[in-house]
Amino acid sequence: MTAHHSAARTAAFTAWRDQADAATRHAHRLVTEMTTRAGAQPAVTTDPWLGEQLAALLLALLDGTAQMCPHLTVHAPAVVHAALWAPGRLVCGGCIPSLHPTPAEDRICDRCRHTPDAIHSAAFQAGPLVVVMGLCPPCIGQINATPARPSQPRRRADHRGDRR
Ligand SMILES: [Zn+2]
Ligand SMILES: [Zn+2]
Repeated sequence: MTAHHSAARTAAFTAWRDQADAATRHAHRLVTEMTTRAGAQPAVTTDPWLGEQLAALLLALLDGTAQMCPHLTVHAPAVVHAALWAPGRLVCGGCIPSLHPTPAEDRICDRCRHTPDAIHSAAFQAGPLVVVMGLCPPCIGQINATPARPSQPRRRADHRGDRR
């Protein structure tokens, strides 16, 4: 009985882990697609500011304040999408439209909160998490990412590579 349960649990864990691995690979592929298609590079995750943003997202998850779409569950790991203009919100690929910024948000740099003439999009991946952001040219230089393109509307195109 015990052995049977243990085997079932091991099988379930293996399936969960395989799904989590697949989600991580999918997230990596999405970010690579988003950035290479735009002629840019993924933002480096060693940037302290990006690290803070990531930590804030994880903290929101841990303390239960994250707003997650109903399709994300720990039982079925999948790519999780977040946008830095929508703090604390995590959604599945199908719910990306709910992350679209308002026109006002779309003009603000997510890092310095200024309203520059041009906003560039950037993305980074951490495990199964894909985080997109819009930054002014100096800020995109600060995080060491190559500007993708000055775009209007920039963010709407960010997830075009997400075919699920
Ligand atoms: Zn969803
Ligand atoms: Zn900025």
